Amino acid sequence: MLRLPPYRYHRPRGVQEALELLALHGDEAMPIAGGTDLIPNMKHRLFTPGELVALGGIEAMRGVERGEGGELRIGAGETLAALGRSALLMGELPALAAAARGVAGPQLRNRGTLGGNLCLDTRCTYYNQTAFWREALGYCLKKDGDVCHVTKVGAKCVAAHSADTPPVLIALGAGVEVAGPDGVREVGVEELFVADGVRNVRLERGELVVRVRVPGTGEGLRRLTGYAKLRQRGSIDFPLLTVAVAVWLDEEERVAAIRGVVTGLGSRPRVLSGWEAIAVGEPWSDQLFPALAERAHAQCRPLENMTTDPDWRRAMVPVYVRRALEGVG
Ligand SMILES: Cc1cc2nc3c(=O)[nH]c(=O)nc-3n(C[C@H](O)[C@H](O)[C@H](O)COP(=O)(O)OP(=O)(O)OC[C@H]3O[C@@H](n4cnc5c(N)ncnc54)[C@H](O)[C@@H]3O)c2cc1C
Ligand code: SF4
Repeated sequence: MLRLPPYRYHRPRGVQEALELLALHGDEAMPIAGGTDLIPNMKHRLFTPGELVALGGIEAMRGVERGEGGELRIGAGETLAALGRSALLMGELPALAAAARGVAGPQLRNRGTLGGNLCLDTRCTYYNQTAFWREALGYCLKKDGDVCHVTKVGAKCVAAHSADTPPVLIALGAGVEVAGPDGVREVGVEELFVADGVRNVRLERGELVVRVRVPGTGEGLRRLTGYAKLRQRGSIDFPLLTVAVAVWLDEEERVAAIRGVVTGLGSRPRVLSGWEAIAVGEPWSDQLFPALAERAHAQCRPLENMTTDPDWRRAMVPVYVRRALEGVG
């Protein structure tokens, strides 16, 4: 049985109290929301925080509500289960609700939160293992070692970004409110991530994601979203590939804007390039799908950071892009 390392558990009732606890305990402290990623990682000794600052009792980080200009404001502490059955999301952003429903399995979605999903640690075959397993291999440069067993050369970790909701949020042009010792700042979800598998989330120690903001649709436009996920077991697994699509149509049902985002391949979600040139100004129809899928295939090259064959994952890119496009609604 894998045991947790010792820790103290703090239960702040507000964001300010949580920030003060994180500042007080510095490098020893980590926030914990649902704990569905952090607790297994602690058992594997990937993280050993002596102080856990629990976010579950912070009411200000809850709720799904409409702001100005049609914006949707979603508390980072909302569970994935709640988002997956939110009538507001299912009506307006069905891909986000579907992505939330596609995470892990029901028990984990009841605990796991949107904030935890945004701040999920990257994953790799050589990293998500017990301390004993990793020690036998001489560790790796993401944790305790100095070699990468995937690239074999160089000093770069390419562990995979493996969270389902960020690609949808990036496709939608969403942002997050980040609270820290110096106040609240806003950052686009796309800019939240960097291509560094060691730590791919641009948050300073002691900062918290408190809210996600999805902009309104825009004057005279209709917004549609689509989502498709490849995984080994449909009942529980992390994505081997996630595809998110957002399309804005004008009053004549022509494409005014389109964004496609994939993840599960590299250390950060990837915005697909070249889609606007293919689709903008065209009537929205499945005639566009082959060219969009082909453009995605040309630019996605998975690495051997997961147990499944990268060539097969690459071959699945156009298949899942088409599925996401076919499911747009
Ligand atoms: C078997 C299994 C299958 C899974 N499958 C999937 C899957 O298919 N797709 C997927 O996306 N995920 C999957 N997960 C991972 C996880 O369940 C989800 O990503 C979940 O959303 C994490 O949220 P949490 O609240 O539990 O995060 P936690 O475990 O509490 O935290 C995760 C990380 O985020 C930090 N954090 C949490 N909240 C905040 C915040 N508000 N501000 C700043 N930092 C914060 C924590 O310090 C920690 O570093 C799976 C997990 C397991 C165990
Ligand atoms: S990609 Fe390399 S450095 Fe990163 S976790 Fe995997 S083996 Fe370690």
